[in-house]
Amino acid sequence: MTGLEDLPLRDELRGLTPYGAPQLDVAVRLNTNENSYPLPEAAVAEMEKALSAVLRDLNRYPDRDAVALRTDLAAYLRHGLTWRNVWAANGSNEIQQQLLQTFGGPGRTALGFTPSYSMHPLLAAGTGTTWVDGRRDEDFTLTAEHAVAKVREHRPDVVILCSPNNPTGTALPLDVVRAVAEAADGMVLVDEAYAEFARPGTPFALSLIEEFPRLVVTRTMSKAFALAGGRVGYLAAGPAVVDAVQLVRLPYHLSALTQAAARAALAHTDALLSTVDAVKAQRDRIVATLRGWGLRVADSDANFVLFAAPRDDSKGIWQALLDRGVLIRDVGVPGWLRVTAGTPEETDAFLNALEELL
Ligand code: PMP
Repeated sequence: MTGLEDLPLRDELRGLTPYGAPQLDVAVRLNTNENSYPLPEAAVAEMEKALSAVLRDLNRYPDRDAVALRTDLAAYLRHGLTWRNVWAANGSNEIQQQLLQTFGGPGRTALGFTPSYSMHPLLAAGTGTTWVDGRRDEDFTLTAEHAVAKVREHRPDVVILCSPNNPTGTALPLDVVRAVAEAADGMVLVDEAYAEFARPGTPFALSLIEEFPRLVVTRTMSKAFALAGGRVGYLAAGPAVVDAVQLVRLPYHLSALTQAAARAALAHTDALLSTVDAVKAQRDRIVATLRGWGLRVADSDANFVLFAAPRDDSKGIWQALLDRGVLIRDVGVPGWLRVTAGTPEETDAFLNALEELL
């Protein structure tokens, strides 16, 4: 039997495993930071109408430039942005891949600060970009001094920041983003997939776009908008960045169905985002409860919580929770586990199961 090792794989892909959390059929799935709430009926009805309207026209390619969707996304983001500032793709993963295809690539370097979203180094590998790990502090913080020192040391073509950071949960102070944007010669990508869940007063990098033409903010409809299955991510940046990404995007990459569904969802933004407060309440409840039990917990501005596993046994606790029907995530940070905040019932199940293991 021919194995992977027998194929003429690119050297940088040898030995890698595909990214992906287990998709297991268990009662309580809190491992991929989805929004646990189904879409509201009013939004579903609107999306059905929008989808049936485009079905008849599927013989034609979709709007390659997705102008209507980009216009709606710009209106959602505000900050004086227009469709020329926004680009959309099949999830923010694809957006980030396009950015690395455009600004990274062979002979170029991307700098990130782990523990962070583990797709970032994989996207670097997939685009032939050399990955440099600037590391976060032991307590998962990232200071402006440390980040700028790494930027000066490595002179990366792309710096990737993540705020709120997955898997640690905490948002970056804006002065860190600003300091990196000032120090970097290359592009600065700020992954804000979880922005809508941030605690009050958290600043976002959107406000820096006009000042820094090489700054790109990526967002997604997968989390707060509860549209993970719809696959819609987007970026906001100066119009030149959007023009640059056109050089690598596949023609008609975003299907007419996706564009229609996303636009109908955006027309129901308030209804869709109405679950965000409920999710944040569960997040805060998980943080407070685990701290009450004496566990170490990272501050969270996202829809998940990173906590130190009891007895430092992340593997054992992960498995024991799964045995009790609760799937959470071992994110590869030794001794720590990540749980998504979902419905109150899901939190009950998680907390009850974990309490049994204390
Ligand atoms: N960025 C971060 C930090 C994420 O956690 C995720 C999803 N796990 C993504 C980007 C990608 O999400 P999507 O492709 O669904 O937009």
